[in-house]
Amino acid sequence: MSAVDDAQRYFDLAAETMGLSQNMRILLTTPLREVRVQVAVEMDDGQVHTYIGYRIQHDKARGPMKGGLRYHPEVDSGEVLALASLMTWKTAVVNLPYGGAKGGISVDPKQLSPGELERITRKFVDEIQDVIGPDKDIPAPDMGTNAQVMAWIMNQYEKYHGFSPACVTGKPVELHGAEGREEATGRGVAIITRALAEKLQRPLAGSTVAIQGFGNVGSHAAKILQEMGARIVAVSDAHGATQNRDGLDIASLLSHQAATGGVSGFSHGDKLTNAELLALDVDILIPAALGGVITHENAKDIRARCIVEAANGPTTPEADEELARREIVVVPDILANAGGVTVSYFEWVQNRQYFKWQLQQVRQQLEQVMTEGFQRVWSVAEEKKVSLRTAAYVLGIGRVGRATVVGGI
Ligand code: GLU
Repeated sequence: MSAVDDAQRYFDLAAETMGLSQNMRILLTTPLREVRVQVAVEMDDGQVHTYIGYRIQHDKARGPMKGGLRYHPEVDSGEVLALASLMTWKTAVVNLPYGGAKGGISVDPKQLSPGELERITRKFVDEIQDVIGPDKDIPAPDMGTNAQVMAWIMNQYEKYHGFSPACVTGKPVELHGAEGREEATGRGVAIITRALAEKLQRPLAGSTVAIQGFGNVGSHAAKILQEMGARIVAVSDAHGATQNRDGLDIASLLSHQAATGGVSGFSHGDKLTNAELLALDVDILIPAALGGVITHENAKDIRARCIVEAANGPTTPEADEELARREIVVVPDILANAGGVTVSYFEWVQNRQYFKWQLQQVRQQLEQVMTEGFQRVWSVAEEKKVSLRTAAYVLGIGRVGRATVVGGI
């Protein structure tokens, strides 16, 4: 099944619970606009390469559309559409005044020089600048993009539209970015994990955690969860994994990663495979990399008590059913990783007010938004006797549906 089918399946489950009419289901799942553009650039060797860029705007009933830009070889229109719809539900679950969108370019950024990356980004902005903007659709980082890419986006957009820092979020702090944006998704994951542990009456202090993916999200989640007292026993990245039952020291692991380019070969950890990491006997498993990693093939091997989805779409619907049958609690992506877009919202607000917040304020407000989102989702799950995923969709779809109805079409 594709990412779009998976997203539809989760939507349908919630729509069923809500008794949503067929017409409303179609209205809420049909994207507003799908943009596919040619991104032709001259590479360093003088050759011209042509890439395909996407921006899919899913829904704007609750406000300007919002969502990241992914640079990855597997980016295609189906994946971007699925991710755009997740953004619609995600912004609604944590009650940000936004709709949902997503974009990307089918390219491997690791194969590009900084100059090539910049030219591709600027060319992409040339092609989409008329459909994005502070009141229309605001891009942000996702896999394969970062604050530098966002700085180029702002600079290129401003060549057409003049000073507009709010046209993109996740910018460098030196260039209208928000303090705490980079750590935000990981911090949000940690806040949600702690809230879950409290609800389940299994305190986070001393709980064991395995994290798949040690990029921006996984590494910040690891660091902050360790500060909160959790024991991070295993971590993986695209090249390998490392484990230590007594707990990995995340600061040293980060230095090792900076020096060697990966987590493998860490001197205070033992080697294990990515598949073994997913099957570890831990309290909490955090997938923080690509989508579709927990499938019906490996769900039966999972021994974690809880899964907190830091990645977008890491669990397929078949796997989700198997996990539910085995009473493994899953906190869905649209709640668990909403910290990133939440601090993006704070950045946008600061840009629009020309007023800079202190890091402390960002963290405090993030804590409040994530905790409130978690409590809401938990109550819906209890009240309707559904999984946390279905509850999050019910909450998100309900909010978007009501905005659509009161606003009119
Ligand atoms: N790419 C992130 C996500 O999937 C952040 C999006 C944003 O900040 O707009 O939630």
